[in-house]
Amino acid sequence: MEEDIPKVLCPFCNRDNDKVIDSRSSENGGAIRRRRECLACSKRFTTYERSERVTRLMVAKRDGRRVPFESANMQRSVRLACGKRPVSEEAREQLLRNVEDAIYRDFEREIPSMEIGHRVAHALRGLDQIAYIRFASEYYQFSPLAELSRELDELQSRTRPLPNESGLFETDGAAGSSASP
Ligand SMILES: [Zn+2]
Repeated sequence: MEEDIPKVLCPFCNRDNDKVIDSRSSENGGAIRRRRECLACSKRFTTYERSERVTRLMVAKRDGRRVPFESANMQRSVRLACGKRPVSEEAREQLLRNVEDAIYRDFEREIPSMEIGHRVAHALRGLDQIAYIRFASEYYQFSPLAELSRELDELQSRTRPLPNESGLFETDGAAGSSASP
């Protein structure tokens, strides 16, 4: 007696008669990638098997509403923020995967929407500074605005030393303080 195992439909001919020709671990062990061959039309296609998240993470919005966490929203805003910047799709996917993994690791049931924004912004900053600023100002909307200006100050101080700091590294003259009139 044969067991009735549900099958994936072939994306080419829509029939459900295939055999697995190769299975391998994918996405750092998070998924199994199966290469399949349709026995009806002989075309090959790929399926992925992943475990479902056990708990549904909720996002606490600033207006008090709670909505299910959707990584697609995060994906969209990061894609828009990157725009035509030289950020590869691979780097973007990696960033999103890292942020999502960390979110699921650190939050069990609920995460404030601002926290998601902070984490994405932080990760983006290391990837592309223009994309980071775009994300922060357009899609994430730091509140209050002072926070954005503080972030920008921080960003600027990382790219060039502040005038009063540069004195510390000068070798000529005494240790800086004698320079003032
Ligand atoms: Zn087929």
